[in-house]
Amino acid sequence: MPEVETLQSDLFAEVAVPAAVTSTYTYRIPLMFHAQAEPGCRVVVPFGRQTLVGYVVAIHEQPPPDLPLHDLKAITHWIDETPIINAEILALTRWVADYYYAPWGETLKAALPAGLDIVLEEWVVLTDAGRQAVAQGTSRSREQHLLAWLAKLGGESLLDSIPKDFGTKPRQLARDLERDGFVSITVRPSESRVRAKQRLVARLPNHTATPASPAQARVIHCLLETQTKTLTDLARQAQVSPAVLRQMAKKGLIEISPETVRRDPLAHLADLPSTTPLELTAEQRQAYEAVLDAHDRGRFQTFLLHGVTGSGKTEVYLAAISAVVERGGSALMLAPEIGLTPMLSRRLIQRFGPLVALLHSSLSPGERVDEWERIRSGAARVVIGTRSAVFAPLVNLRLIVVDEEHDASYKQSEGAPHYHGRDTAILRASRLGCPVLLGSATPAVETFQNALSGKYTRLVLSQRIGNRTLPEVTLVDMRKVFERHHAARFVSDELQTAIAETCAQGEQVMVLLNRRGFASCWLCRECGFVAECPQCSVTLTYHRADHYLTCHYCGYTVPPPRRCPTCRGEGMAYIGEGTEQLETRLRELFPTLSIARLDRDTTRRRGAFERIFNDFATGSLDILVGTQMIAKGHDFPNVTLVGVVSVDAGLMMPDFRAPERIFQLIAQVSGRAGRGDRPGRVIVQTYRPEHYALAAGCQQDYEAFFAQEIIQRREAYYPPFCALANVMIRHERELEGQALAEKAACYLRALTKASARWSPESVRVLGPALAPLARLRGEYRFQILLKSRQRRQARQALERLLPELTDTERRHVFIEIDPIDL
Ligand code: ADP
Ligand code: ZN
Repeated sequence: MPEVETLQSDLFAEVAVPAAVTSTYTYRIPLMFHAQAEPGCRVVVPFGRQTLVGYVVAIHEQPPPDLPLHDLKAITHWIDETPIINAEILALTRWVADYYYAPWGETLKAALPAGLDIVLEEWVVLTDAGRQAVAQGTSRSREQHLLAWLAKLGGESLLDSIPKDFGTKPRQLARDLERDGFVSITVRPSESRVRAKQRLVARLPNHTATPASPAQARVIHCLLETQTKTLTDLARQAQVSPAVLRQMAKKGLIEISPETVRRDPLAHLADLPSTTPLELTAEQRQAYEAVLDAHDRGRFQTFLLHGVTGSGKTEVYLAAISAVVERGGSALMLAPEIGLTPMLSRRLIQRFGPLVALLHSSLSPGERVDEWERIRSGAARVVIGTRSAVFAPLVNLRLIVVDEEHDASYKQSEGAPHYHGRDTAILRASRLGCPVLLGSATPAVETFQNALSGKYTRLVLSQRIGNRTLPEVTLVDMRKVFERHHAARFVSDELQTAIAETCAQGEQVMVLLNRRGFASCWLCRECGFVAECPQCSVTLTYHRADHYLTCHYCGYTVPPPRRCPTCRGEGMAYIGEGTEQLETRLRELFPTLSIARLDRDTTRRRGAFERIFNDFATGSLDILVGTQMIAKGHDFPNVTLVGVVSVDAGLMMPDFRAPERIFQLIAQVSGRAGRGDRPGRVIVQTYRPEHYALAAGCQQDYEAFFAQEIIQRREAYYPPFCALANVMIRHERELEGQALAEKAACYLRALTKASARWSPESVRVLGPALAPLARLRGEYRFQILLKSRQRRQARQALERLLPELTDTERRHVFIEIDPIDL
């Protein structure tokens, strides 16, 4: 009878573990955890030789058919009493994991705030045999010594805290003892969940005794107004010392108790006056109504809100969010890492007050956990955050807004899962049946194509609010500068004069150098020729150490020409100067002006970014030098000049999206100059002023740019005309890495050979080639690029490739779907 019962009450958990594996694993659930066995909880499980924190994704009453029951391992700890991941987020992360070839467990981990992490600790515990050995304690070996030490501690200790005097390898010693049965080593989870923050508050007890002094009377008077007060507030308000309060507590006049406080990243904005919504313009109203209509009909629909900076997009977001909240729903707004400015948070707080939660990477782990809990409980109904906020567990989510939808920071490029925040937002909205609103002045080419084809609904804001004009953009032809000086110049006379003029009028300048670390190209300073791959229409990358040019898509390699193939000139050189040099040069040119630099190097420390920005905002700096970090999102009314030094390194990145990025950059800096009453100026230095992205950028004409760009994309067969998948091979040993890359490429080619090269069914295989970062952290990196008309085809090829690899080989292969940085 008991046996039957055990069988009937058997439960099994399907667990996703955060390790480089694609499947889930089934574990037996010990009886003592049955009461809380629900999907969405975290558990501790043995996994191979490790112990991991996994996520329960399903509960089954039957064991998996293909595994003998006694092979199933058991869950060792059940961490959450109630699920912390709801069904919607489980399903969403599952989809994301499958789509991006990422482990589900790692995707779930990325979806949860880091402050919730569980730390697994190893404990050494004395066994009965061990206790006996201590009691008999004859020999004086190190083992005996350790056992005695453990016994003195009460029989257990953290493995890591065994003192060094037990030898250089105390862990090994403990493992030896375990083998002999004297100790056992167990793994226990401890919640690193950043401890709840507490403060002391005072309140009035039910029966108040009469105060004995005027000071005490003041205290009670203060407390009668509001129910509770923190000790410091109360002491200040009643003008008494904290000692008086403690005395009063002792006498029972007041009660003092600890209270959990929320770590509120927006606390400093709490007292802002609230704003009333602005009266929308006709175009704004049209956009707002279209979104609301989809909402009211419970329909999934993707909108593109297309309008230049200052055309009132944010106001439309706010109006739509407000309507959704009034109707009982909640709304999620995503913004790029850098675009998430205090200004935007301020506007949201002013409109929605305590309903707002913020999720973003510069919050402390504690703040993030607190915000996440408020979202999960339904207390926060307007969430603004960066990429990973797309997984925020909002209750009754009815609208998603993606601001600056074209921004590259929406794509997770380091580490699994390589998901795209915007695309995930669209998917999430489609599953929920609600509208998603993408906003941009310079939509991604794919997005705009979808709007043209009718897949997305395009909403246009054609004018800046108040008819403020866009700044004038001028190109400086650096070929002429080179000719004039017979040398390359960092800062042209034109830019130098403009800076001097601007600062003389007490206005401010931003100087931007758009250069991403590693890529340099081979350029003719006389005619602007740039060495390109004959097959891929991207620039060749110059490798300085070994002096050659190579294509990072297909692997084509040539020595760099000394004379320019077009003009026969001898001005050929690589370009790649950095912001640090630029800062130095500007200090030489303008010794009396105050200059600061903003880039990844100067903003490493927490708060550095805000400090530099603050100095600039308050006018204590004249010139701000930086990478495109300075171009985004901020509103400095006193900036009337933006200089872009060498747009070329960016334009000639070995990346087919380079022209798009540069167009976006120019549009963005134009949005920065002249936000106040005075008109702004933008000066762009370039060796290729005739490039279509620059010409269109000057006119600030997105459609002209798109018309050219889409032709390029079609001809060279790039998205949106094909889907991309990148197979990267990383290996500590170059030759082995290369051999594996070649094997994989060969297999993929053989697979696709059967179909005709350009038929819709085809998958094109490029490479293997060196990755743009050919060596990173001691690993050699090769890549194979797959281009397929439909995503499905590349997936099918990959799904046949993966089983061909051994487990060891598989560990070196990293797949990225829809890569944006190639
Ligand atoms: P975007 O998000 O496109 O850059 P914003 O929504 O920030 O544009 O609007 C730019 C400026 O115009 C803001 O200062 C905003 O307060 C103001 N604004 C927006 N819409 C209106 C409106 N309907 N009436 C008056 N001012 C508006
Ligand atoms: Zn090539």
